[in-house]
Amino acid sequence: MIDAVVVGGGPNGLAAAITLARAGRSVTVIEAADTLGGGARSKELTLAGFVHDVCSAIHPLAAGSPFFASLPLERFGLHLLQPEVAIAHPLDGRRSGLVWRDVERTAAGFGVDADAWRTRIGTVAGQWGDLAPMLLRPLPQVPRHPVELVRFGLAALAPATWLAKHWFEGAEARAVFAGCAAHGMLPLTAPLTSSIGLVLLATAHAAGWPVAAGGSQRIIDALAAYLVELGGTIETGTPVTSLAQLPASKAVLFDLAPSQVERIAGDELPQRFRAALRRFRQGPAAFKIDYALDGPVPWSNAETRLAGTVHVAGDATEVALAEADVANGRHPLRPFVLVAQQSVVDPSRAPEGKHTLWAYCHVPNGSTVDMTSAIEAQIERFAPGFRDVVLARHVANPAWFERYNASYIGGDIAGGSNDGLQMLMRPVVASAYRTPNKRLLLCSASTPPGAGVHGMCGHLAANAALTGPLR
Ligand SMILES: Cc1cc2nc3c(=O)[nH]c(=O)nc-3n(C[C@H](O)[C@H](O)[C@H](O)COP(=O)(O)OP(=O)(O)OC[C@H]3O[C@@H](n4cnc5c(N)ncnc54)[C@H](O)[C@@H]3O)c2cc1C
Repeated sequence: MIDAVVVGGGPNGLAAAITLARAGRSVTVIEAADTLGGGARSKELTLAGFVHDVCSAIHPLAAGSPFFASLPLERFGLHLLQPEVAIAHPLDGRRSGLVWRDVERTAAGFGVDADAWRTRIGTVAGQWGDLAPMLLRPLPQVPRHPVELVRFGLAALAPATWLAKHWFEGAEARAVFAGCAAHGMLPLTAPLTSSIGLVLLATAHAAGWPVAAGGSQRIIDALAAYLVELGGTIETGTPVTSLAQLPASKAVLFDLAPSQVERIAGDELPQRFRAALRRFRQGPAAFKIDYALDGPVPWSNAETRLAGTVHVAGDATEVALAEADVANGRHPLRPFVLVAQQSVVDPSRAPEGKHTLWAYCHVPNGSTVDMTSAIEAQIERFAPGFRDVVLARHVANPAWFERYNASYIGGDIAGGSNDGLQMLMRPVVASAYRTPNKRLLLCSASTPPGAGVHGMCGHLAANAALTGPLR
């Protein structure tokens, strides 16, 4: 009998396996697809020589993860490349809100909001080292830095629309804040949406918004190589549908969606807990396009050309309208488009002189609407002539995502909705990683602290296993 089986080889599954192997436990990872990686794979989706990030592209959470910081990933070939501008948020009239790594440089660009940026965002960024271990774990907890946490919490509780309006006066700073908060896939009038904006902006200054040299897949390759060095084993090409398929083990950790766990575990879980897993709410979905480009995107604002990430929507009000539409089951005419231009900082992504572009917008869960022209109209609005540089495109709608990874239920790429208490306590209010069956645990992005390539869900779930069935 081995100590643990991890079902699913995404970033959290590998993080869980590494944590167990580091503690001297025998562990094997079983992955459905032919390659490891889940939401962090890279592939030539369009033309030969163009490397695209199939899912995640920008890695503030990997760069700011206390768990990843404890791993020797550079030794296994992982290099994070920092673009000159972390985030650009173009506005009409060739303007753009710009977030540089440096707080002072960023504040200076926000004019009337320079002081507010320095004292509010700069302060949270300066405390990121203390805040990260408290924010990237489940509640309740006894905080190590209660003053910082309370100060952060008071601002974080507010709806992003409220905070943007009360903290900032200028369109640039307001738009940048709204764009970061919109990563949470919630209406920006919802409580707690400021927390997402604050965390992502803090990481922009404290850790950067880097891309992985060679593609996000390199994060997975490094994690897998380290796991193997520690003695862990990996089996790919094996979709798990029942516990009977798994080798005998003292613990099973699922890097999967709650509804998958409910089906796979079946009667090994009590009916009440199965019902609670079935009540888990999925979030909106993504509609994504990857482009092979003949040259860089012709953004009207020159500094936007230096950015790794571009939030394309217009001002803060437009971001809020787009996200409200999605939350109400509608498809925005002018969607909030998240754009990554990896090849600006990583030339290995495309043949010389050519570029890749990654762009997606939020759509209602299970949507079948083609958002290609809406996405391209938004990019054209701030980069006239964009369509002329497109050589090829690869389109992924919610159904494509669910076929690609069975954990993306209805195209939900965030491991579940962040609405209500589910942002803080997931998958079940009273239970983060453990289940009533001591042997079975969850370790995916459907557990705290939620979506992103940071490995914290897997790491914390493995710790729960080490103090539970593997004690
Ligand atoms: C389009 C898109 C863009 C994103 N952008 C970013 C970004 O820029 N930055 C960021 O930090 N995060 C981003 N994310 C989110 C991030 O990718 C996820 O939050 C993260 O990958 C979650 O990791 P995980 O290990 O919990 O799950 P996953 O990555 O989903 O891994 C789960 C694994 O389980 C496997 N699996 C599923 N069912 C079974 C089964 N029955 N048996 C065995 N194996 C199974 C899957 O194949 C997969 O490999 C993005 C996601 C998507 C889809």
